[in-house]
Amino acid sequence: MDKMEKKETLKRIHAVDLLNCADQVVKVSGWVENYRDLKKIRFIQLKDRTGFIQVTLPQTEVSKEVFDSIQDLTKESVLEIDGLVKKSPQARLGVELIPSKIQIVSKAKAPTPIDMSGKIVSDLSVRLDYRFLDLRNPKSINLFKLRSRVLGFVVDFFENSGFIGINTPKLTSAGVESGAELFKVDYFGKPAYLAQSPQIYKQMMVCSGLEKVYEIGPVFRAEKSHTVRHLTEFTGIDFEQGFIESEQEVMDTVEGLMHFILKHVQEECAEQLIALGLDQKIEVPEKIPRMDMVEVKKLLAENGLKLTAEDDLTPEAEKWLGDYVLKKFNSEFVFVTNYPWAVRPFYHMKPNGDSKGTKSFDLIWKGLEIATGAQREHRYDLLKAQAKEKGLNLDEMKDYSLIFQYGVPAHGGCGLGLDRIMEQLCNLDNIREAILLPRDPERLTP
Ligand code: ATP
Ligand code: MG
Repeated sequence: MDKMEKKETLKRIHAVDLLNCADQVVKVSGWVENYRDLKKIRFIQLKDRTGFIQVTLPQTEVSKEVFDSIQDLTKESVLEIDGLVKKSPQARLGVELIPSKIQIVSKAKAPTPIDMSGKIVSDLSVRLDYRFLDLRNPKSINLFKLRSRVLGFVVDFFENSGFIGINTPKLTSAGVESGAELFKVDYFGKPAYLAQSPQIYKQMMVCSGLEKVYEIGPVFRAEKSHTVRHLTEFTGIDFEQGFIESEQEVMDTVEGLMHFILKHVQEECAEQLIALGLDQKIEVPEKIPRMDMVEVKKLLAENGLKLTAEDDLTPEAEKWLGDYVLKKFNSEFVFVTNYPWAVRPFYHMKPNGDSKGTKSFDLIWKGLEIATGAQREHRYDLLKAQAKEKGLNLDEMKDYSLIFQYGVPAHGGCGLGLDRIMEQLCNLDNIREAILLPRDPERLTP
């Protein structure tokens, strides 16, 4: 009786701890990754969040009840097993578990709708329909473990650099960008919009006296883009800093952030990098080249990609530039500076004496934009004139215009996309792989 009670109170241990428990009776739980029945001996490969456990059932060593209980076992079922940990040179981890009790907590339907072993590759859209099952593939789950770490490094970087984390509303009455990309929602009979960026609020909080703020949160874009780099809901990493001399300081912050993230990924995420086949492929940027748009367009023209002075960079131009800087500077990254006023919002500051340019930049990583930033126009009269130039009336944007009337430092900031960062970090073909449950014009489930 005593012995029984002791067994009942066993605490669960995980796969990683098994090696330290040789000759002990332990409890483990997890999903059946594999099951083999060789008649006189049965094997279960059990998986928990830390790894794999080999469970061995020699007919002569386990009770008939235990041996028979897994007769019709299906893959992916959840089991709770008590058993003796035995050293075993043949087992992958050097130990195996000989069960004294097996409880089938939940029997899985067979077969599963997708193959998680990686042998049969399903279409991405089918994988996304069954995303929780797709994550049982080691490659998929390691991608999201890595994403979690990257997010942690972003927070660490900003917290270490004197920025204050903020959370701003995603239900808003209007944005400061064009209205075209806004999702409209019914707010108790009044129209409201899902925030397409925290722009107003981060500028507001710089002016509040916080000086340096960052936010990691959802960003909504009602764009019918069917590309491998656009989602309708993504995770934005936004920051804004006050008392700057120029947009160069904002770029310094972005450079520091990317350096910090990639250095820590390289140093601390070996397991994930190996699982994703990236262990030899991480470049930690030190100094990122900064190229003026005029110079970039000259190079593009020389190579058959002619753009006008007012044009934005096309995806093809970004791709070409990515290859160029890799060859020329041995850098996967490049800042393009001085975007044309024609393609930037009214609040980007113009350089002194240049009414066609802006003190703005994009960061291109391996040929794809991952960030846009700028120094903001903080002088009320100039801001008002710039709004007018874009056909907007600053006085009608009451909440935004107020910010500039009670003491506002020179400031600037930037927005980066976490999903794009993961797409580029992991060399994915599609941004949808980088996000658990993507939202795009066709997909609103699961
Ligand atoms: P693009 O030109 O690629 O459509 P954008 O210039 O409209 O992007 P910004 O408003 O500059 O995007 O947003 C800042 C960052 O947010 C981008 O550099 C990118 O990393 C990310 N981002 C923007 N739009 C999307 C989207 N639809 N899906 C995923 N990430 C996005
Ligand atoms: Mg942009």
